[in-house]
Parts: sequence; structure tokens; C-alpha cells
Amino acid sequence: MLIIMGLESPREDINKVKEKIIEFSCTPHEIPGSSKLAIGITGATHLLKEEDFQMMHSVQEVVRVSKKFKLVSRQMKSNDTIIDFGGPTVGGKELFIIAGPCSVENREQTFEIAGQLKEMGINFFRAGAYKPRSSPYTFQGLKEKGLEILDEVKQKFGLKIVTEVMNSQSLQSVCEVADIIQIGARNMQNYSLLEEIGATQKPVLLKRGMSATVEDLLLSAEYIAAQSNYNIILCERGIRTFETSTRNTLDLNAVPVIKQWSHLPVIVDPSHGVGIWDKVPQMSLAAIACGADGLMIEVHNDPENALSDGYQSLTPKKFKELLNKLNELAPIVNKEMKLYENANSL
Ligand code: PEP
Ligand code: MN
Repeated sequence: MLIIMGLESPREDINKVKEKIIEFSCTPHEIPGSSKLAIGITGATHLLKEEDFQMMHSVQEVVRVSKKFKLVSRQMKSNDTIIDFGGPTVGGKELFIIAGPCSVENREQTFEIAGQLKEMGINFFRAGAYKPRSSPYTFQGLKEKGLEILDEVKQKFGLKIVTEVMNSQSLQSVCEVADIIQIGARNMQNYSLLEEIGATQKPVLLKRGMSATVEDLLLSAEYIAAQSNYNIILCERGIRTFETSTRNTLDLNAVPVIKQWSHLPVIVDPSHGVGIWDKVPQMSLAAIACGADGLMIEVHNDPENALSDGYQSLTPKKFKELLNKLNELAPIVNKEMKLYENANSL
């Protein structure tokens, strides 16, 4: 259930509504929109009746939220959530681009790629220190050492760091370095981890599980939002289907569906979605054309010798060519490539 109040409602009236919600052993969540203030209610909302709130001061409307997910739903907040990183934003007009290698392999490789991306105007650098690999015999990431290298990248290049957390044991140390915490496809339904990450109040990049429906993804986002953390970026990264010609099937249908059902920003990871580097540019353009707010792309200086996901990684040169194409596409879909303002050479 959702209580709609005027943005200028007296604090006393807002608090009375919240107290009433708590009286019913439910939890109120204040969500200010552009013109209205919504108070979302989670818990045993079937015990509440519309009439309990309709007569209260400053209450304009009481709405039953029809979806299973509530706080992240469009019904709860009609305007798009824009996450501001002190300059760059995601969810608004700006095309939001995250780029970098699959894994931190060593200091030299990481610095080389970070330096080239910085030159292109990229603000958000991705690289895994903790790697969830399908086989236990493949490279598992440099772990703490990888985080140290990412911290150096942050200091040296002024890049913001996007890196994955795999479990609660390393959450604290990942939080110290990451500007955005990545939750990988394999952990999308690790609900206790979602709650812990939500409670850190750090921005989160939540990747869709490989067998998860859009509803499952939004319900996972709901776990984070229920901790009053709305800094959630959703990421379509391909799902498992019967098709074997590509690593996964990039489900671009999900983008307009998520946009309709949720106020949260959504980006696409065509690298994992396709799994083959030469298909990544086409699917990147398709993702932006169908309404994604941005992209996450794997870039490696030496893909053939990469310790993970080399086959789906673009070289910096190919990535730069893609950026140029995205720059042409952006205005057609009412987006802007702000990163060009930071670029040293293109
Ligand atoms: C990654 O981003 O490198 C990764 C492991 O992605 P996913 O969780 O989508 O497989
Ligand atoms: Mn990868």
C-alpha cells in the first residue's frame, strides 16, 4: 500500500501517518517524488484498510500496489530515479558507461587499461578482485591484493570503482574501495547478502541472475530498497536459453519492461550477454536504442591472454570506436554522452 501526500505536507502530518503504519506492525518508507511524497508500506499490509488513512491530514490518495515488488515499483514513484555520483549520473539524460577488464590480473594490466579508459573520458572502472568462476580450477581473482590495486587506480586516475562482492566476509573491505558494489548474476538471489549490502547504503549494481525473471530481479532489488537504499542500478546481462550460438541470450525485452514497472535505472552488459567480442558493439547500440540508461563493457589490452573473459572483451581501440558510435546514437534517443567532455583524446 502507498500513501500519497503533498510534497509540502507538514512534518507533523507525515509523522502521524508513519506512526499509524507502525501501530499496525508495518514499516513506512518515505519516497519523495518530483511533485508528491509517497509513503510506501511493507509488512503485513493486508491488515491495513484504505479508510484508516484516507481521512488523515495531508493524505491525498491511498493506493494498493498491484506488483509483488513495492518500493522499486513505478506505482510507488512515477519519476525516474537518478543516482548522482557528484557529477556523473545514471537514470537521467546522461549515458552511463562502466568499462574495464573482467578481472584485476596484476598492477601493470590494470593500470594500463585504466589509463587508456581515463583518456577516453570514462569515469567508472570495473574489474573483479573476487571472481565467481564456474570452475573452481580457473583464476579466482587476486582478492585483497586486487582491491589494493583498485584503490591505487582510484587514487592515481580519479576513476570510480565498480567491483563485485561475493560474500559478507569481504563486504567491509570491498566497501572501502568500491564506489558501486556489484552483485553478480550468481548472487542475485542471495537474500541475506542483499540485505547486508543494502544496509551499507552504498550504490549497488544488481545483475540479473541467469535464470531469473524480470520480476525476480525486481524482487531482489526490493530487498536492497527495504534497507532504505534506493541507489540501485539494475543490469541485464543475458539469460540462459536453449540457444548455444552465443554465451547467453541478451534479453533486451527486459529493458522496456523494467522501465515500465520500475523507477530504477537499468543498464545492459552485452559482454556477458553475448560472450563474443565482435557482437558486443551491435548489442551495445541495440541496448541504448531500446531505452537502457547505460552499458557495462569489458575492455582488455590483451584479450588473448586475459585470465578471464578475454573472448568477450573489446580492445581499447574497438571500445573507442564503439564510443564514437554511441555518441552519434545518443541524441536520437534523447541521451547525452557527457563523458566526451572529460576525454583527452578521441
Ligand atoms: C562480471 O561482471 O565479470 C561477472 C562475473 O558477471 P555476471 O555476474 O553477470 O556473470
Ligand atoms: Mn567477466
